[in-house]
Amino acid sequence: MRDAGCHFLAARNMPCGHIIRNDGCILALLHLYRFEKKEVPKTMKIVIDRSNCISCGTCWETCPDFFEENKDDSFSQITEKYRLDGNNAMGVPTADLEDCATQAASGCCADVISVVEE
Ligand code: SF4
Repeated sequence: MRDAGCHFLAARNMPCGHIIRNDGCILALLHLYRFEKKEVPKTMKIVIDRSNCISCGTCWETCPDFFEENKDDSFSQITEKYRLDGNNAMGVPTADLEDCATQAASGCCADVISVVEE
């Protein structure tokens, strides 16, 4: 007999036959929870060690929506829209900017841009 848990799984095209064999849907729901948890996309965070930036311009030329030159000290900073907690050295790119932000980090000749995945 199918209970609410089995219908929940069936709605996601997951068979609950093995659940019945294992005597209950609670185990399966725990399995589903782990399955769905793995699908949660990681968040990418970009961190610039601004004190060691040499102002070569590679990052803001590679990914101008995400990096820019600070007009006061000429070092790289995250554009305001993508800053984390207002910190100009830390930001989270939207999905469409992740590739160019990563390329900019790879191309930094001073190696002062870190990509952190959480
Ligand atoms: S690529 Fe690196 S060194 Fe060059 S401006 Fe950007 S952060 Fe600074």
